[in-house]
Amino acid sequence: MTATFKTLDELDLANKRVLLRADLNVPVADGKVTDATRIERLVPTIREIVKKDGKAILLSHFGRPKGKVDAEFSLEQVCEAVANATGHPVGFVATDWTEMSDAQKAIESAPAGSVLILENTRFHPGEEANDPELAKRMASLGDVYVNDAFSAAHRAHASTEALARLLPAAAGLAMQAELEALEAGLGKPKKPVVAIVGGAKVSSKIDLLENLVTKVDALVIGGGMANTFLHAQGYGVGKSLAEKDLAETALRIMDKAIDSGCAIILPIDAVVAWHFKADTPTRLYGVDAIDKDGMILDIGPSSIERIQGAIDDANTVVWNGPMGAFEMNPFDAGTVAIAKHAAKRTHDGKLVSVAGGGDTVAALAHAGVKDAFTYVSTAGGAFLEWMEGKPLPGVEALKK
Ligand code: ADP
Ligand code: MG
Repeated sequence: MTATFKTLDELDLANKRVLLRADLNVPVADGKVTDATRIERLVPTIREIVKKDGKAILLSHFGRPKGKVDAEFSLEQVCEAVANATGHPVGFVATDWTEMSDAQKAIESAPAGSVLILENTRFHPGEEANDPELAKRMASLGDVYVNDAFSAAHRAHASTEALARLLPAAAGLAMQAELEALEAGLGKPKKPVVAIVGGAKVSSKIDLLENLVTKVDALVIGGGMANTFLHAQGYGVGKSLAEKDLAETALRIMDKAIDSGCAIILPIDAVVAWHFKADTPTRLYGVDAIDKDGMILDIGPSSIERIQGAIDDANTVVWNGPMGAFEMNPFDAGTVAIAKHAAKRTHDGKLVSVAGGGDTVAALAHAGVKDAFTYVSTAGGAFLEWMEGKPLPGVEALKK
């Protein structure tokens, strides 16, 4: 793929102050980082800047301090985790983002190859307002800008959008990997493409479904949201989770799919239980005969076989949303079977598989195949907005 955005190797980094938009919004308990996954993803870019004798100056949001200086949300508490992950000492630069001379001096006096972390960008209300004046003050701290925070790219904030337009800007290595993987998923995918969408509700994924039916060759709908579609088609879904007021929306999406030549694959059988809990008695039903007191909590074996067949016919799979209430045994079976199948096809070189979403990542980890997919995005909201086909302001601002 020829990138439409600048990459890190296209920037001159030597002796430059490199403003690196990172996502340091990591979980912290008692002043300690409890999950450093997001920090680890930044390591290659930080190391590259250091190797080329640039000053890596990280800026990030952290929590929701609501535009005020609030020690509880200081980024000072993640410095140690960044130092541990990079194996490099990390300095902290305090600022309230109004008067920059102290921060400028601290950065000036740091030697080439230093790693510094600036205070929480959300300590100033201009961050979330994408304030051009704040962006100018940020730009006064750097010579070039690198964005390695795809997970923050769906927000047009001063540090993700306005700032990128003020300095020579490039995607960091993690951002580049994410954009290339997503491009292979929906941008310029190897056809046929199958999208698999599940999860609890249609209401949270209407835009996503509407976008996918215009782009993919087949759309698999599973999980709780399939119940709404089944109900809309006149099937009884008993006491299952279903948004019956969205029946019209479901039918509209199905019509749009027909117009776009996208096949819709709905469950044909379902695992039903009478209590929403783990290890409760279950029974298998065809979707035309669901017990009126029962709840659909997973797809059944015939549905699994049908979906696996669709995966076999595909060169690309894009997946968001589990096929059932996978947190509870045995309702993880459908999701696990589909995940393992996609992983095997990927391993055999037959499939490009791209997945994302908070619960989807957890489900793939539970199935033991998180690393077997071509790409698993941990970006949450940004991944979903990408699946909705929306331009991401933080990515747009990097375009050449
Ligand atoms: P993601 O976080 O990957 O975007 P969602 O948040 O949309 O996914 O959906 C995940 C949730 O959907 C899980 O908590 C799962 O238990 C729930 N879910 C899936 N299928 C069903 C079902 N048949 N009934 C109730 N909940 C379901
Ligand atoms: Mg979720």
